[in-house]
Amino acid sequence: MPGWKTHIAFSYIVCLPLLKLSQQFFVHEISFYLSIILIPIYGILPDVDKSNTKARKVVAISVTFLLAILFAVKFLFGLLFLPIIYFLLVKFPSKHRGYTHTIEFCILSAIPWLFLYFLLDIDTILVSLITAIAALTHIFLDKMGATP
Ligand SMILES: [Zn+2]
Repeated sequence: MPGWKTHIAFSYIVCLPLLKLSQQFFVHEISFYLSIILIPIYGILPDVDKSNTKARKVVAISVTFLLAILFAVKFLFGLLFLPIIYFLLVKFPSKHRGYTHTIEFCILSAIPWLFLYFLLDIDTILVSLITAIAALTHIFLDKMGATP
């Protein structure tokens, strides 16, 4: 099984040329830089189904951070539960290489960026496409690295 560093490197190798080719189609520069940030995250995202992985930690930190903002807005006492939520998100057991290692998951996980296109009028259609491809590189590399 390729490690997270291999997945990130491979997702950049595949997606950066695509990003460079599509750079002329970006209307807003933020979409280009957003893609550069999201490529490694989506390159490891399918491993979110395995506890205590980098992907799980990135997702757990993101969810915990978003909840922290919500709690801080509503009630400060809720902030005390955030370390517990983070711990549960990182350690929660699940079947590895299940649904998150499917083409359907790669496409569905990239769709939220399309909503930014409609909500904020930022051209994130290419961001969505590139993040889906970054996630697909993960599945491809897992299939090539044939160990369980
Ligand atoms: Zn994997």
